[in-house]
Amino acid sequence: MKCLIDECNNVAKTRGLCLICYQAASAIIKRGNTTWKKLESVELANEAQHKSSGHGAFAKAFRKQLSPLVRDMMDEDEIEKRNLESERGI
Ligand SMILES: [Zn+2]
Repeated sequence: MKCLIDECNNVAKTRGLCLICYQAASAIIKRGNTTWKKLESVELANEAQHKSSGHGAFAKAFRKQLSPLVRDMMDEDEIEKRNLESERGI
């Protein structure tokens, strides 16, 4: 993948930027002129990703986190349904 910066043809390493652009961006952020979030919003940087796990790693980890929550919510609904049923004497 090429660096996100149009005028730059280096290979992207971090956040869609090559090492040189990444260091330039980091320097600007350190000076307090912007943040990674702002650069992301104007497409001058990608979201940080874990180098070795590749693209879908975060989404995968997030789903892993989410699924027990969803299951818990469903269980609660199920419990409530049963309570209502027992109240109605079913
Ligand atoms: Zn670059």
